[in-house]
Amino acid sequence: MTASPQVSVVIPVYNEEAGLVALFGRLYPALDRLGVPYEVVFVDDGSRDRSAAMLKDAFLRRPDVTRVILFHANYGQHMAIVAAFDHCRGERIVTLDADLQNPPEEIAKLLAAMDAGHDYVGGIRRTRADLWWRRAASRLMNRIRERVTRIKMTDQGCMLRAYSRDIVRAIAASREVSTYIPALAYTYAHNPTEVEVEHAERAAGESKYSIYRLIRLNFDLITGFSLVPLQLFSMFGMLVSVGAVITYCIVIVERLLRAGWRAGFETLWDRDILAFFLLGMVLFGLGLVGEYVGRIYQQVRERPRYTIRAVLESDAGDAPSP
Ligand code: UDP
Ligand code: MG
Repeated sequence: MTASPQVSVVIPVYNEEAGLVALFGRLYPALDRLGVPYEVVFVDDGSRDRSAAMLKDAFLRRPDVTRVILFHANYGQHMAIVAAFDHCRGERIVTLDADLQNPPEEIAKLLAAMDAGHDYVGGIRRTRADLWWRRAASRLMNRIRERVTRIKMTDQGCMLRAYSRDIVRAIAASREVSTYIPALAYTYAHNPTEVEVEHAERAAGESKYSIYRLIRLNFDLITGFSLVPLQLFSMFGMLVSVGAVITYCIVIVERLLRAGWRAGFETLWDRDILAFFLLGMVLFGLGLVGEYVGRIYQQVRERPRYTIRAVLESDAGDAPSP
């Protein structure tokens, strides 16, 4: 292994057997062309197909520049990246998807922006090659996140990004259980920038994110970086209660005036519609509070955020001995 690689390329892999060969075929030549010492850190996120074995083959073929971390189970893309951040040695760290949606040839562009003095370079997918509903949902969530978290990030879903050693160290030191790396990096970056990058259709296999997982991911993003949903909700709750009391008073006074005191008092308990409405709000609020409480619960347990089965690498500084 090169003593100190300048660039670490981090790639999370989950059931990607169909596309890995094509990835190796483009990744290594692209990195060789950079002309700087580099390492590739693959993290197998508990794949159940042949991905782990294929990563091992890649390691045996290029042990000087390849490191493989094998997770015991599926901890999610972002935990896989954190694990790689814990283990990588480069001064600059580039993250990339394994499905070739982020062309490895674009890495040079990110590094050029770092040469210009930026410590964090985000990618913006020029033409996004994904399903239309993914693009639409993504645009919506980008806008909501922008409002709620005040993180300036044009394309939150793009994982083709370059980070400085300092940012990666800070992210690795963050003991959060559920997080969203591109957003977390912004809280540590002092001179971030963004560049346009190409985006391609998935080379093989299918997306690992179901609608359910996408929703969970966006909850991580919003609740992980903002208490606004919680605050908005209590504001709204107060407004609704005040509104309800005022409406009630108006209705009763109107009845007393119109129908006299007897008929007016007989319909004092007209609260059906409001009761349904308020019940709905209360349940929603409870769920939202639960979201935060659940996270506190996860955090205080202080479980290891992932467990590693094996690390395939040759000793730093020594001759490669696979
Ligand atoms: N991935 C992972 N663990 C997971 C889900 C995904 O390591 O639980 C990896 C996956 O192998 C890929 C990257 O994260 O390299 C992005 O996943 P995918 O392409 O399925 O997401 P999409 O492009 O559809 O948003
Ligand atoms: Mg993809």
